[in-house]
Amino acid sequence: MTQAKVGFVSLGCPKALVDSERILTQLKIDGYEVVSSYQNADVVVVNTCGFIDSAKQESLDAIGEAMQENGKVIVTGCMGKGNDAQVIKQAFPEVLSVTGPAAYEEVMGAVHEYIPQPENHNPHIDLVPPQGVKLTPRHYAYLKISEGCNHRCSFCIIPAMRGNLVSRPVGNVLDEAERLVAAGTKELLVISQDTSAYGVDVKYRTGFWQGRPVKTRMLELCSALSELGVWTRLHYVYPYPHVDELIPLMAEGKILPYLDIPFQHASPRLLKAMKRPAHQEKTLERIQKWRQICPELALRSTFIVGFPGETDEDFEQLLAWLPEAQLDRVGCFQYSPVDGAAANALPNHVPDELKQERWERFMETQQAISAQRLQAKIGREMDVLIDSTEGENAVGRSYADAPEIDGVVIVENAAHLSPGSMVKVKVCAADEYDVWAELLES
Ligand code: SF4
Repeated sequence: MTQAKVGFVSLGCPKALVDSERILTQLKIDGYEVVSSYQNADVVVVNTCGFIDSAKQESLDAIGEAMQENGKVIVTGCMGKGNDAQVIKQAFPEVLSVTGPAAYEEVMGAVHEYIPQPENHNPHIDLVPPQGVKLTPRHYAYLKISEGCNHRCSFCIIPAMRGNLVSRPVGNVLDEAERLVAAGTKELLVISQDTSAYGVDVKYRTGFWQGRPVKTRMLELCSALSELGVWTRLHYVYPYPHVDELIPLMAEGKILPYLDIPFQHASPRLLKAMKRPAHQEKTLERIQKWRQICPELALRSTFIVGFPGETDEDFEQLLAWLPEAQLDRVGCFQYSPVDGAAANALPNHVPDELKQERWERFMETQQAISAQRLQAKIGREMDVLIDSTEGENAVGRSYADAPEIDGVVIVENAAHLSPGSMVKVKVCAADEYDVWAELLES
């Protein structure tokens, strides 16, 4: 069978990456060959991102390129839903099909329709790795625990694109984690839209793993993951009260003392306007309590400045909050309207120059905090997971650094280390993002 080659373009966030991995795994199971050039492909799947305008433009550019270079294109992902799907169809009337996020079956249906499944293929003989096809390096992997979100933050259209929260059965999540670890994964990155809400939709139903009962709940999931003996890192955690239960697991070294909490702002008035989950929680007190239990805890967050209606007072409140919270890693975005988001209709949009000015003040304040916190690490010993080498050095990450979004640890004169090795280092220097370290032992 010659006509069975599929090209694949994957855009967007880690959640979209997991969707791509699932489609690629299914393509392999069904006997298709995934090729890396447009010319060799019989059809090209483009997994799009539709989160903000620049991501949509990037998605349209990718579809345009695939149309020009190949001409047979199946579009899926976050931009393939609602009004944006029409935008795609208008711009490229010849695309073969357009579907939204997590539409695995529809995408496979479209592939089968345009290039028939290889006849001689035997899924029991042809090799698909037991962990599925992964787009991340072998030593770390994203573990998606749920789809969708029950919140309705006014700046966000994800619930409209991905629907309400649907938790994956806890046994399936743990089986997948086990397969990944057996295949060499040293770090599991737990992702979803709202990780601490895991299991709410199924009333924390009891599932089964390795023949024993496990509740569909954050604490039980994390305890079970800790038995696998690899790093477990939690992303997109909202500070609901039960997050407190996870901190002792971190203090005991069972999961990484790292929390990625998208706080977005510190002014209660603005958080309410944003309709943020857990906006009434007393976060500063909570952070202090967490650090008493687990002093190592690294906190990462993202913020929005210039949200409609943000006053000078709101912004000053945010600036004053930062030194109190002492976050380790922070990203900050200037508010920009997203098509279809409720916040677009809010009054008092902030002028662009003022957004820029606030963003600069925010970054200056936070960079000084991050730099100081990294300086305090000088002289400390820590475990580092190596990702790559650069010249004489190896580049890796400590418990405080998630791939792609945080800084790195540069291990000097250690180019002999291979990706995936876990080594002990001593930190000898730092700037506001990265640290430099000497190798103690491999
Ligand atoms: S919690 Fe808010 S920002 Fe996050 S996906 Fe849900 S609605 Fe969007």
